[in-house]
Amino acid sequence: MGRVVVVGVALTVAAAACVFASVVVGRRVRSRRKWRRVLGVLADLEEGCSTPVGRLKQVVDAMAVEMHAGLASEGGSKLKMLLTFVDRLPYGSEKGTYYALDLGGTNFRVLRVQLGGQRSSIMEQHVEKQPIPQHLMSSTSEILFDFIASSLKEFVEREGDGSQTLLTRRRELGFTFSFPVKQTSVSSGILIKWTKLFYIPDMVGREVTECLEQAMSRKGLNMRVAVLVNDTVGTLALGHYHDADTVAAVIIGTGTNACYWERTDAIIKCQGLLTTTGGMVINMEWGNFWSSHLPRTSYDMDLDADSPNQNDQGFEKMISGMYLGEIVRRVLLRMSQESDIFGALPSKLSMPFILSTPMIAAMHEDDSPELTEVARILKDALEIPDVPLKVRKLVVKVCDVVTRRAARLAAAGIVGILKKIGRDGSGGITGGRTRSDVKIRRSVVAIEGGLYTSYTIFREYLHEALSEILGEDIARHVILKVTEDGSGIGAALLAAS
Ligand code: ADP
Ligand code: MG
Repeated sequence: MGRVVVVGVALTVAAAACVFASVVVGRRVRSRRKWRRVLGVLADLEEGCSTPVGRLKQVVDAMAVEMHAGLASEGGSKLKMLLTFVDRLPYGSEKGTYYALDLGGTNFRVLRVQLGGQRSSIMEQHVEKQPIPQHLMSSTSEILFDFIASSLKEFVEREGDGSQTLLTRRRELGFTFSFPVKQTSVSSGILIKWTKLFYIPDMVGREVTECLEQAMSRKGLNMRVAVLVNDTVGTLALGHYHDADTVAAVIIGTGTNACYWERTDAIIKCQGLLTTTGGMVINMEWGNFWSSHLPRTSYDMDLDADSPNQNDQGFEKMISGMYLGEIVRRVLLRMSQESDIFGALPSKLSMPFILSTPMIAAMHEDDSPELTEVARILKDALEIPDVPLKVRKLVVKVCDVVTRRAARLAAAGIVGILKKIGRDGSGGITGGRTRSDVKIRRSVVAIEGGLYTSYTIFREYLHEALSEILGEDIARHVILKVTEDGSGIGAALLAAS
């Protein structure tokens, strides 16, 4: 009897052990299967975002072709190729004290520049930067411009001696307004549309300078807008002031855009355009560039579909600081839907734009062995605690894939401009000549924007791609130069010249 009981107990224990083992094994198999699904999401992302040099060269060609099309006729391309009426760039002989305002996508800057009359002799510059209050981005033009004019007035008054002079003598102001504007002269233009996070419908189609000048007069400021420029144009102006080989300027910040120096005879849509210099700065509005060669994923399509400016700014949505964090968030959300890598579906992960680009940069550049910064950001920003190390590594990989694509596409865009103006060593868009008989000139591209200046890995990927596309020999002649606060200071320089 006793033996039967012992055998019975042993069988029960064995059966329980079997059940337990099969539960454990089953769970492991399921978890392995889920992990494989997550890796599948990553592999798809990598494939969708891949930018081999061959594809980048196709983007280069497409950019140059679209530039031609945009110059040939109004509406000939998604690239607007806007005339700026800036037909002379500062050379260094400018003298005097000038003010400028720089309204970017995230920040607003007020500047005062004192020029000495010799190249690179900015005797003094004073820049005050502040974030643009979010509620102003979707208010009315009057509220926005009253805020700008007030900030300028306070700045001028703080500068002391200036205030008294300002009441009596009219001052010239450079205004950097980083949205697509159809210029009617060097100092006036009409807002075509808002981009980035701005949405102030009553402003679209209106004279930008007029709005600012009215606000300044409401605030009792005796100032006149001498130049209305885009941030790219300001950056080109400062770049050229320091280095006369500067041929183009690129902004990679909240948004992205570029401008460059073009010969007037190439601006076909404006027949008979005459300038004393034979050239003019063209604002490309390259954020709106599109080509079937761009590596587009389902995340990009969903992001676009959910955006207020659907089918617009396609290049910008793959490159600029406003969107990179959001693309990463969408990938992580997909991964957490495929499996429970973050535990139960974290609700914060479903919130659009909760993950900013500076956050993904911080995770990407976390070089601690335990990825403590990644853990901190996942916990603080997304309220996901206790993420295992292997998942943290996966998050870093996603940041890497998204950032690498962005940087490489920006590089292709830059080479596209160089190709259009015959400075990529290939003899220009019409080609014909071989590389060996083309004299390669030094070309400087002025760059500005927080994404490029503050995100080291992004910058390194961009430089690497530039060399890959151009080849080391030619890339050596292409210099990317950061012009700090160039978009604003350049506007002051243009106001002076
Ligand atoms: P704006 O576009 O308003 O003129 P900036 O040129 O200063 O402003 O760029 C700010 C943008 O740059 C931010 O919106 C952000 O996307 C990006 N950025 C700023 N700092 C970093 C960083 N450390 N890493 C990555 N991106 C950054
Ligand atoms: Mg800016």
